[in-house]
Amino acid sequence: MANLKLINPNSLDLSDEILEELSNGREDGEKEEFLKAVLLKAIHYSSLVSYIKLSPNCTSPRNHIIDTITIHCMAGNATVETCGNIFAPSSRQASSNYGIGTDGRIALYVDESNRSWATSSQSNDHRAITIEVANDGDASTGWHVSDEAYISLINLVADICKRNNIKQLLWQGDNSLIGQTNQQNMTVHRWFANKACCGDYLYNKHFDIANEVNNRLNQDNQEEDEVTTTAITASMNGKDTKLTSIIYNGENYVRIRDLADAQSDDKLTVSWDSANSKVIITSK
Ligand SMILES: [Zn+2]
Repeated sequence: MANLKLINPNSLDLSDEILEELSNGREDGEKEEFLKAVLLKAIHYSSLVSYIKLSPNCTSPRNHIIDTITIHCMAGNATVETCGNIFAPSSRQASSNYGIGTDGRIALYVDESNRSWATSSQSNDHRAITIEVANDGDASTGWHVSDEAYISLINLVADICKRNNIKQLLWQGDNSLIGQTNQQNMTVHRWFANKACCGDYLYNKHFDIANEVNNRLNQDNQEEDEVTTTAITASMNGKDTKLTSIIYNGENYVRIRDLADAQSDDKLTVSWDSANSKVIITSK
């Protein structure tokens, strides 16, 4: 897992309910300190994600800030799990940052900090977040997508823009503006390869997508920071594991202990030395 980062134990202000929810039988005295100290800023991704299966097909880290959105279509009606399986073997040499199923569920395949291998252009993918959307219609429909998938796409792109400081989404349908993100910061696969991607249905929606996302960005300016939790499924070493993700200031955190517990062979143990304010990670 790339880009693991320990966070300052004192930098999170967790409510009693959140602490209780996460404490999992820890003794009262050490509960808060333990929880705070072992939070790990794990992977950089949207809190809208409900399924994670990290693909090995990526370049870590990306070499450019995120300033572009590239929407793809799957050219098929894969679930987020199936799409994750497609991107899982390294022989596939392909991935995307996110996937959205026809049911509207959102998956992470490549950490936002890393470059996905999606758009047949290294320079595009180093600066873009790439999103594969499932199609509930075939080529004759211009690779139609469901309303659920479309709504999730708007939600996801708005969230990506907000967290990555993209103030406005710009689309002109003009491939001569590739890389000129002050004029256009959405790109499509068909500009880089002989492909129909992202399908005419989504391609023709690009103006609407930009408008709807920009409305959202304008509305969301006043939101307060808060801490919430969400259940996620992470695929670790090929094994699906339920984890609690803690969302704070739009970033996801997981506990080191949960990651250690998720190792099926018990190779890691995590404990908290409260006297010395030290996290102790032991490898067997
Ligand atoms: Zn594509």
